[in-house]
Amino acid sequence: MQYRPALNKMKPYVPGEQPPPGKFIKLNTNENPYPPPAEVVKAIQSAATGPINRYPDPMATSFRRAAADALGLPGPEWVLAGNGSDEILTLLVRGFVGEGESLRLPYPSYILYRTLADIQGANWEQVPFDEPWELPQAFGQSRDDLKLVLLPNPNSPSGTVVPKQQISELAESLDCPLVVDEAYADFAEDNCLDLVQSNERILVTRTLSKSYGLAGIRFGFLVAQPHIVAELTKIKDSYNCDAISIAAATAAMGCQDWLSDVVEKMNATRQRMADRLSAMGFAVTPSHANFVWCQHPEGKHAEIHQYLKQSQILIRYMDFPDWGDGLRISVGTDEQIDACLLMMERAMQSLN
Ligand code: PMP
Repeated sequence: MQYRPALNKMKPYVPGEQPPPGKFIKLNTNENPYPPPAEVVKAIQSAATGPINRYPDPMATSFRRAAADALGLPGPEWVLAGNGSDEILTLLVRGFVGEGESLRLPYPSYILYRTLADIQGANWEQVPFDEPWELPQAFGQSRDDLKLVLLPNPNSPSGTVVPKQQISELAESLDCPLVVDEAYADFAEDNCLDLVQSNERILVTRTLSKSYGLAGIRFGFLVAQPHIVAELTKIKDSYNCDAISIAAATAAMGCQDWLSDVVEKMNATRQRMADRLSAMGFAVTPSHANFVWCQHPEGKHAEIHQYLKQSQILIRYMDFPDWGDGLRISVGTDEQIDACLLMMERAMQSLN
């Protein structure tokens, strides 16, 4: 079988384990431990009994209106809906980065960006964060072949944020679009939505998989100036979002009070979790997302991960070549986090 040569050097992007529901306490892929609001469930049920023999609205107009209202954007033409923010990222790479051209990402961050460049036959350049998770000057240097820069903010796996002022400065120094991947921004104090309106080179991606508790329906979106949304619309699948997801996502955007409550609750759990991990001797990176990144001076991260897995608790062990390894633990319910911390204490005792 002959595939495009670009595939030869590729390795598949490995997402976190997704076991069948029920067996594990699942703290490995930054989902929301709480179910979505009742209004969303109702919208899903009503869409499922609607005219499902018909194609959905190709532009997800109801969602785009609801998103513009909820986020204070000038109008729906500033929003492009996608099948998860992963699809939006795919469209951005497809739209801006040609074969042999380059995209840039910080390191360690979201490895999918590299896979998207590989698929495109493009190059990727990883710029390592300076300690402690600060962007070096080199991240903002422009270059002729550089066509897209991607910055998760808050970052994963660290949960750290690059200040907004610095993001503005980056956009000024770069000649290409700067994508601020705000998958976790609802858990942070600030975001870059207002910068999109003042600078066409700043593009924001969002997801409903995390704060809104809707990872199962796959819905994400882009916020960008209308001419960019219009251009990228040309290269999306005709019906990239299905009717049930559009109904759920539209209803979710109307649940901003629910969102504030759930974020407040999860951020309180995150703080408690960080304090307990610090007390256990972990170096815990201060997080602005729904997970924490921690490293123990004695290492043994892979062993701790394995110990927890045997006890039906899934957290994420991450090993970044030339950088180091650690554990990323998603915020769960208080009971889930208590169970996880207890098992981590036992793991530490048994591994010593
Ligand atoms: N961006 C970042 C930084 C992420 O961690 C994730 C989740 N893996 C995504 C985007 C994708 O989210 P989704 O496709 O579920 O919208």
